[in-house]
Amino acid sequence: MAADQKQIDQSFSQKSSLGASQHPTSEPIIVGLTGGIGSGKSTVAAAFRQLGIVSVDADQAARAVVEPGMPALTAIAEHFGEAVMLPDGGLNRAALREIIFSNPAEKQWLESLLHPLIREWIVAQLQAAKSPYVILESPLLFETDQHLLTQATLLVDVPVPLQITRAAARDGQSTAQIESIIAAQMPREEKRSRATYILDNSLPLATLDARVLALHNEFMRRVNRPQESIR
Ligand code: ADP
Repeated sequence: MAADQKQIDQSFSQKSSLGASQHPTSEPIIVGLTGGIGSGKSTVAAAFRQLGIVSVDADQAARAVVEPGMPALTAIAEHFGEAVMLPDGGLNRAALREIIFSNPAEKQWLESLLHPLIREWIVAQLQAAKSPYVILESPLLFETDQHLLTQATLLVDVPVPLQITRAAARDGQSTAQIESIIAAQMPREEKRSRATYILDNSLPLATLDARVLALHNEFMRRVNRPQESIR
């Protein structure tokens, strides 16, 4: 309770200085942006974009690598057959989800095909980005080890009941459907303990831009003094 109160009193909370870098200091700083479904990641990423910061979206990467014409889609069609294909040649995601949901070996096969391709797509976008630092927005940042691409992580955090209310209002999904998605994601407390920065998004939307600006100023300070940010 006390920790939550502390966050409300501040524009954001920082638990530690930026983590060890995987990159030489001359490369732009990459900030991983994560949070469970409905926590407000897209909203926060949009606020950073308003400030001129490029945001690379891991969900977009996951869609891009299985677009018609991409080698991964051919491999998936060969492996799973026509059942996972739509008449227009696109991927039938619902059918594929159904298969891998009940079959861990197939899930493993699919992930070992897609994860390296998704990572490659993300890295190419991060390298092409032209802003003082770059955001990597990913709902599964820690789960998929994408945090290893970043120098700092920002968790958009809300209590689970609020997450469910907001996601349900946005998507029209049932509470049970959203709860099952949350159950498949890393528990909130674990994400809180791993993130460099935590943005409390239970506060009103009207206060968000100012709190994103405070984080932006913090990241810019790190960009301008890399010797402090990269240890
Ligand atoms: P995510 O990308 O993490 O799934 P979104 O950014 O789409 O989450 O936010 C989920 C829903 O909650 C959206 O409808 C969004 O407009 C709303 N929302 C986000 N932040 C707030 C806030 N601080 N107050 C009220 N509603 C919010």
